[in-house]
Amino acid sequence: MQKKVSFYNLGCKVNLADISRIGKQFEDIGHQIVDFDEESDIVLINTCTVTHRADADCRKIVRRALRKSPDAFVGVLGCFAQLQPGEIVKIKGVDAVFGQKEKYQIPQLISNFSKSDFPQILVGDMKDIPFHTSAVSDNAGRTRAVFKIQDGCEYNCTFCTIPMARGGFRSMDYSEIIPAIDNFAKEGYKEVVLSGINLGEYNSSTGEKFVDVVRLLDTYDADIRYRISSIEPNLLKSEILDIIEKSKRFVKHFHIPMQSGSQEVLMKMKRRYRIKNYDKLINDIKLRMPDTCLGADVIVGFPGETDELFEETYNFIKNSPISYLHVFTYSERDNTVAASLDNPVPHEVRKERTKRLRDLSDSKLNEFYNSQITKIREVIPETYNEETGLWKAHTDNYVNVMFSGEKVKKGEKIKVLLMKNHYNYVEAGVVNG
Ligand code: SF4
Repeated sequence: MQKKVSFYNLGCKVNLADISRIGKQFEDIGHQIVDFDEESDIVLINTCTVTHRADADCRKIVRRALRKSPDAFVGVLGCFAQLQPGEIVKIKGVDAVFGQKEKYQIPQLISNFSKSDFPQILVGDMKDIPFHTSAVSDNAGRTRAVFKIQDGCEYNCTFCTIPMARGGFRSMDYSEIIPAIDNFAKEGYKEVVLSGINLGEYNSSTGEKFVDVVRLLDTYDADIRYRISSIEPNLLKSEILDIIEKSKRFVKHFHIPMQSGSQEVLMKMKRRYRIKNYDKLINDIKLRMPDTCLGADVIVGFPGETDELFEETYNFIKNSPISYLHVFTYSERDNTVAASLDNPVPHEVRKERTKRLRDLSDSKLNEFYNSQITKIREVIPETYNEETGLWKAHTDNYVNVMFSGEKVKKGEKIKVLLMKNHYNYVEAGVVNG
């Protein structure tokens, strides 16, 4: 019998791609995917450990689901489910908790279920966990797709639970990449964002590394532009930059996690680079490709981050060519080394520092947008607003633009002139459309 299935995603785009794949599995066997707020027979909640209150978030979503569908089967999966299944199964209304290995078998595991057979914890270990690719649209216009080619991490950054929650490195077969790209092109996507948990650690079973993927896509004839979602600074090697610098297919946008501008804090975090190398890398990128948009992740309030060390981070970013930040307020996670380090930073101080860095990020982005005024850049029109007559899009170097153009078609690459900075977007004009 056809069932209505809804899902809710907490956390990153890779998580969203994973739950979309599971949704597709349900569709393939004849079930219907409905919006989360519609009445459904099966509700799946994909959890995250990065969210500040994973447990409370999960509870809230379960309650919301049960208000609409009191008899629904509620399954919880994802990173938090893998780490704390015993906690989750105690949440009133949860019928099953699925581990990372089990999550792609949910349609089979619960076929012909009867709620009386549950609650159950279906979470095994992650030994020999296979790679499952997944993809999802990244924007309302369905012009950009997030494409997972790598999963898992084996680094030991002291604040991070991802290696425990997602398991070790695993990658998509190299030979499957081009067929997947052909599929994206067939579905009308014009941009693919290469994604992974630690993407630069892509390592296929046939020996290809991430640089080989970049080379492959750079030379493959498809009407698609490529973006790298995020890459660790120790893995963004000059041979990758050599390709991207000359590439017509890879955009000039990098997101490079930094986490702290203080060498002392980086060492406590057990990050695999020195701040002077990070500095050298981002300046080298800007020298080679001056219009590059550079994003960075930063964690504030890590144990032992004194006022002076925070100022080091602040000043480093202020004087750097970084264009914007993703700022995370440090919060203790069970079973991490960082949670037991001395000198925790008081919560109000963490909050203040977060605000200062978010304000700094706004001004860096504004600076970057200003630097792009009078430039001509490529955009892929994403969505059109009939009322305002304006298109929304991102330039190759990730400037959020709006422009008018009745003859413009969604997904068709065009050039625009960047004219006026409105702070959260830049007003542009079509050059050749
Ligand atoms: S590189 Fe560090 S922060 Fe990133 S997933 Fe791996 S352990 Fe976590």
